[in-house]
Amino acid sequence: MTNIADNIRRIEQQLPQGVRLVAVSKYHPVEMLRQAYEAGQRVFGENHVQELVAKAPQLPSDIQWHMIGHLQTNKVRALMPHVSMIQSIDSIKLLRTVEKEAARIGRTVDVLLQLHVAQETTKTGFAVPELQEALSMGEFDNIPHVRVRGLMAMATNTDDQAQIEREFQHVKDTFGIIRQKYYIGRDEFDQISMGMSDDWPLAVKHGATLVRVGSAIFGPRQY
Ligand SMILES: *Cc1c(COP(=O)(O)O)cnc(C)c1O
Repeated sequence: MTNIADNIRRIEQQLPQGVRLVAVSKYHPVEMLRQAYEAGQRVFGENHVQELVAKAPQLPSDIQWHMIGHLQTNKVRALMPHVSMIQSIDSIKLLRTVEKEAARIGRTVDVLLQLHVAQETTKTGFAVPELQEALSMGEFDNIPHVRVRGLMAMATNTDDQAQIEREFQHVKDTFGIIRQKYYIGRDEFDQISMGMSDDWPLAVKHGATLVRVGSAIFGPRQY
């Protein structure tokens, strides 16, 4: 049996101060999330709107729900009352929709801009030059109900550790450049979300402030 509380404690012990653990609970039943909650876990990541929206009302309200999966614009409205941070902003159109829906219910929402750095073409996100271009065009201005907190990325699914480290370092370098150029004096741009069950220690080594860990906490997912 998976000991969720032990797994969380073991990971927490290895995380430097200032790095937060996002427990990726997709496909796991509410009962397992409750065990994580009782072990002190407060930040949960889901990658489907329907699942997040179904789980949130069944669990304590001090949980911070992070949306980490590809988000369709027509699902933003349903998500907005429940979500603390949307990590997976991968288009300007999505960002505009998030702004509109946050404004509609009178709240502000934290987001991360998702970068595509992995080799797989299946992974979504902005290419680095594309993001720089959009920032320089002012596409991220005038979004008063959105706080851009930083970047999110996924490394290539490979056993090549050196490649994974290069990708994480690339994200960190990009974060530094973007902060210098576009978010200078805005302290809220301070988060880098990268690293999953197999590679989170490498992500931490290269500056992650949020690690998204699923199977190393909850065991394998039942799809
Ligand atoms: C599922 C998922 C994770 C966690 O994956 P594990 O390998 O189970 O830790 C992290 N990030 C994203 C975006 C995911 O979809």
